[in-house]
Amino acid sequence: MPWHHPKYSMVIKRRVGHEAALPYDGGMWTHDHEGFRVVQLPALRDNYIYLILPQDQASCLVVDPATAEPVIDACRQLKRRPTHVLNTHHHWDHTGANLALKQMFDCRIIGSIEDRKRIPGLDLAVCGRKPTTLGGLNIRIIETPGHTGGHIAYLIKDALFCGDTLFGAGCGRIFEGTAEQMWSSLKRLSTLPSSTRVYCAHEYTLANLDFAACVDEDNPKLSMRIKQARARRKSGLPTVPSTLSLELETNPFLRVLDHEFRKHYAVQHGISADETSVFARLRKQKDAF
Ligand code: ZN
Ligand code: FE
Repeated sequence: MPWHHPKYSMVIKRRVGHEAALPYDGGMWTHDHEGFRVVQLPALRDNYIYLILPQDQASCLVVDPATAEPVIDACRQLKRRPTHVLNTHHHWDHTGANLALKQMFDCRIIGSIEDRKRIPGLDLAVCGRKPTTLGGLNIRIIETPGHTGGHIAYLIKDALFCGDTLFGAGCGRIFEGTAEQMWSSLKRLSTLPSSTRVYCAHEYTLANLDFAACVDEDNPKLSMRIKQARARRKSGLPTVPSTLSLELETNPFLRVLDHEFRKHYAVQHGISADETSVFARLRKQKDAF
C-alpha cells in the first residue's frame, strides 16, 4: 500500500505535524455546487483527492485517489459509499488507491481508453465523445493530452476536474505529448464558462505564482492573486479550487491567449509570436525555473 511505502513515511509524518495547526474539519474542505457537493482531501505531499457527493444519495464518486486512507476515512465520516473512481491519467499519484478502493467498496474504475493498459483495475474506458451519467450527475469527458497521452478532464456542471493539465497559475509538465497537444488541451479548457471552478490535482499554486511573477511583471491581477494565495497558505487553506476567469487573468500559460502578453514575450525572447511558439517557450522556461 502506498502509505506504508518507506519513501512516504517522512512526508506523512510531516503532514500530520503540520495538520495539527490547520483549521481542518476532519481533514477535508467542502464546496457546494447545484445538485452536488465536492469534498477536497489532501493526500501525500501536495495532491488533492476529490469526492463528489450527489445530493440525496448515499453514494459518491472519487477523483484521482492517490492513497486510500483519506478516502476511506472521509467516506466513513460522510456515510457515503464510493460507486466509481474517476482517473484523469495513469500516474501513480492519481491511481495509487484504485485497487484498494475497488476491493473494499466494489466500485468501478473509469479512465481514458488510451490508458486502458496502464490504469490499475480499469473497468470502463472512456473517450471525449460520450458523456456519461453517474450517480444521477451528467459527466462530460474532455480529452486533454499533453501531460500524458491519455489525460482526460471531467466536467460536472461548473466543476472541472482537470488532474495535471491545468494547475493554479500553471500547467502540467509535458511528459508524453507535444507542446502543440498540451496547448490545444489548455485552449479547449479555456473555452469553458469563465465561472467554471478549477479542481486541479496538486497544490502547486505558490511555486507557479513565483514563475508567473517573472514573466508577467506588470499584471496587477497577478500581484493581487499572489497576496491572496500566500495568505491562504499561511492559514493552512488550499488555493484550489480557483476559477477559470482567475486562471485566464493570471495563469501565464493561459495569458498566451492575450495578444499583448504574447507579443511582449515573443519580442523579449526573439521568437515568433504565434500561440504555440510562445506556449512552448514558456513551458520550457518553467521546466528550468
Ligand atoms: Zn501526473
Ligand atoms: Fe500528479
